[in-house]
Amino acid sequence: MNALTWLEPLRSSVPELDTPAWTSLERFDAALGELSSAAPAHHDAAAWSAWLLQLRHELAARRHRAPTGPAGPVWQTLAQFLAGARDLDLRDCTGAGHGAMVLTHAPTAIARAWDERLRAGELIGIAATERHGGSRIREITTRARPGRGGTWRLTGEKCWVSRLTEAAAFVVFVRDPDARISAVLVDADDPRAERDVIEPFGLGGWSWGALRLHDLPVDPATALLGAPGNGLEIFHQHFARFRPLVTATALGTAAGVHALVADALAARRSTGILPRVRDNALIALGRTHAEITAALLATVTTTRLAMIGHPAADLLARLGKAAGVDTAVQAVNNLAPLIGAAGFQRSHPVAKARADLTGLLYADGIHDSLYRSGGVSLLAGPANSRLATLTAAA
Ligand SMILES: Cc1cc2nc3c(=O)[nH]c(=O)nc-3n(C[C@H](O)[C@H](O)[C@H](O)COP(=O)(O)OP(=O)(O)OC[C@H]3O[C@@H](n4cnc5c(N)ncnc54)[C@H](O)[C@@H]3O)c2cc1C
Repeated sequence: MNALTWLEPLRSSVPELDTPAWTSLERFDAALGELSSAAPAHHDAAAWSAWLLQLRHELAARRHRAPTGPAGPVWQTLAQFLAGARDLDLRDCTGAGHGAMVLTHAPTAIARAWDERLRAGELIGIAATERHGGSRIREITTRARPGRGGTWRLTGEKCWVSRLTEAAAFVVFVRDPDARISAVLVDADDPRAERDVIEPFGLGGWSWGALRLHDLPVDPATALLGAPGNGLEIFHQHFARFRPLVTATALGTAAGVHALVADALAARRSTGILPRVRDNALIALGRTHAEITAALLATVTTTRLAMIGHPAADLLARLGKAAGVDTAVQAVNNLAPLIGAAGFQRSHPVAKARADLTGLLYADGIHDSLYRSGGVSLLAGPANSRLATLTAAA
């Protein structure tokens, strides 16, 4: 079962996608299939990363992009599911990625220039996490001090930054001269930006590591996103839209493993290696299919809410990322043993999927923190409305 077959029965749940939009999704999947046939082995990290960036450029050149209007984000969510089914490292093969923050919040001329660059396939990274802990963004210490002629000079270290050598620029979260959290765009090639690559356990498609800023000058008139002090707002608004894409990609990866396992079992049965497929395998196939489908539908709903700026979008994106990626991880953990030790070879796509999914338990929000902050929001909501009701009644 390929990933498109998986999506077909869900078509009535995405009425935004008319026939041309659906056809373009099918063409996108076909292009992924064609281009993936020329992919290098992923254990050659440099060749694999170069190919992934090239794939992004090639898809852009062939104009595989989301339709305009309300269909766009839904299309992209499903496209990322299709991409993830091939490989979780294809997590940035559609859209603006973290560059969306620049398109939405940079001064008009800068946003326009980046729109062209991103549409051509360039990549923008995000640098938020610091040594004290990425789950505590409010405590960042990277500083922007006032320089000459109204410039800011940035100093500090960001760690665990993905797309480290592939990104052309980074959105960096800093403490501005008034000690508020602001988001600034930094050119990746600035000589005062030092990049230090670290080898990850999985999700190694994009390089990963530390970004150090050594008194790096930026002009806030062009580099500042939004107003000074808008950093946290930009961060949360962005992740309400970005996390569903991450979740859909992870669920696609689980669907890809599901297909590999189902095909392997079917082949063993038809060749007589297995006289019959045992119930435990059948149950795992059935249950994981239902769980992945349910999580994907919830993800599409969150995408829709984020698109219209619904007040619950941020909460659902946080909880949905944690629960959706957990669903993908558990599904793959349940399915992987069904094809035996063959799937434990480092070069096997199932082994790669397991290692890659582990990375998503941290990237774009560590799960206990996401669930916890979700719990805080859920507790705050009803209590406030209860209080309002009681106050009104008094
Ligand atoms: C593959 C990968 C890609 C990444 N890409 C990027 C990127 O591009 N850009 C970027 O900025 N970051 C990136 N990250 C970092 C990621 O966002 C962070 O790992 C995540 O935010 C968690 O931060 P941390 O790892 O520093 O853990 P911490 O924030 O230190 O959390 C570790 C644990 O401590 C817990 N904890 C926090 N506070 C307390 C407390 N008071 N008491 C007890 N426990 C506490 C947390 O809940 C968690 O369980 C990436 C990470 C990975 C693995």
